Amino acid sequence: MRYFEQHIRRVTPYTPGEQPKETDIIKLNTNENPYPPAPGVRKALQEMDYDLLRRYPDPAGEPLRSAIARELHLKKEEVFVGVGSDDVLAMLFLTFFNGDRPILFPDITYSFYDVWAEMLRIPYETKPLDQNFTIRKEDYFGENGGIVIANPNAPTGTALDLSALREIIERNRESIVIVDEAYIDFGGESVVPWIREYDNLLVTQTFSKSRSLAGMRIGEALGCETLIRYLNDVKYSFNSYTMNTTAILAGAAALSDRAYFEETRQKIIETRIWTAEKLRELGFAFSDSVTNFLFVTHPVVDCEALYVALREQKIYVRHFSKPARIAPYLRITIGTKEEMEALLGAIREYMKKEGAL
Ligand code: PMP
Repeated sequence: MRYFEQHIRRVTPYTPGEQPKETDIIKLNTNENPYPPAPGVRKALQEMDYDLLRRYPDPAGEPLRSAIARELHLKKEEVFVGVGSDDVLAMLFLTFFNGDRPILFPDITYSFYDVWAEMLRIPYETKPLDQNFTIRKEDYFGENGGIVIANPNAPTGTALDLSALREIIERNRESIVIVDEAYIDFGGESVVPWIREYDNLLVTQTFSKSRSLAGMRIGEALGCETLIRYLNDVKYSFNSYTMNTTAILAGAAALSDRAYFEETRQKIIETRIWTAEKLRELGFAFSDSVTNFLFVTHPVVDCEALYVALREQKIYVRHFSKPARIAPYLRITIGTKEEMEALLGAIREYMKKEGAL
C-alpha cells in the first residue's frame, strides 16, 4: 500500500435517511416538517438584495444570531450559529472534546455522535438505556471527557426527567455537557435558561424540524460567553463563512412569525396524539413521544417487513437495523393528518393480509 493510502482518514460515514427523487410519495422517514416554512421566509427571499450575494456573508451569522438571542432572551454573545445543528455539533465535538477521557452518550441515540467521535479520534463509551429506553443517570456520574444527551432523545422520542438532567450537569462540572434539543419545540422543556447557571452546559437547536427549514441548513448552540468564544475561535480557524447570506436572512425571517410557528407546531402535536391513539388501537406499543415522530413496535407484526411493504406503497418510514435492540421498531415522522390517514390505511391492509387483524 502506498504511503497516502495507509494514512487516509478512513471513516464509516453516517447514513442519512433516504431522500427519494419521486414526488408522489408520503415521506415520513427523516422527521421533516410537513408544512412549508413561514410565509415571511418567502417574502424575505424574494426581497433579498441580489447584490448581497457578491459579498461574503457575515461570519457571525448576523442578523440571525441577534434574532435568535432576542427569541431566547439571551445575549448575542451566548449564541453560535451554523449550517444545521449537525455542523454545530461537529464544531462542539472538535472544540471541546480534545482530551484522553472518553466522552459518554447513550447506546440508542442520534447515530451521528459516534461517527463524529470516530472521525475526530475522540475516545467514547456508550451507556445502555434501560428497558424503557430511559437514561440511567448514575451511568454519567463517573469520570469522563464530556457528555452528549439528546433531549428529547432520537429515535426513541421520549424526554429525560429534568431533575435527572440537572443532576447529570451538576455532577459533571469538570466536563462539558451537550444537550441536543433538535426536537424540543414539540413538547419538551428546554434547558436553555440553565446556560446562565452552568458554565459547562451547551444546548443545540435546529431550524430543520419545528421551523420547516431542513433545506436551508440552520442550527445553533447556546452557552455562556466564554464557551461560545472558544467555539468561534475554532470555527474561524476552520471556515469563517459557513452560513450563506440566504440562509441567514431566511432564518431571521422564520423567527419573526411567531403565530405561524405556534399554529404549525400545535397541528403536529395534535396529529401525533391522534396517530398514537390509532396505532395503539392496532396493537402497536410505544412510549409517549414529545417529538414530531413516534417510535413504535408491535407484538405480532414484523416491523422490518412492514417497513418494506409500506415502501412498496410509496410510504417511507425509518427502520434501523442497528443496534439490534431497536431492529423491531419503526420511527414514523408525523406528517399531515391526510398523510397519517394514508399510512394507517396501508398498515391496516398489511395487517389484514398477514392475518394480524
Ligand atoms: N440532532 C438530532 C437528535 C437529530 O435527529 C438531527 C436530525 N437528523 C440533528 C441533530 C441534526 O439536524 P440538522 O443538522 O438538520 O439541524
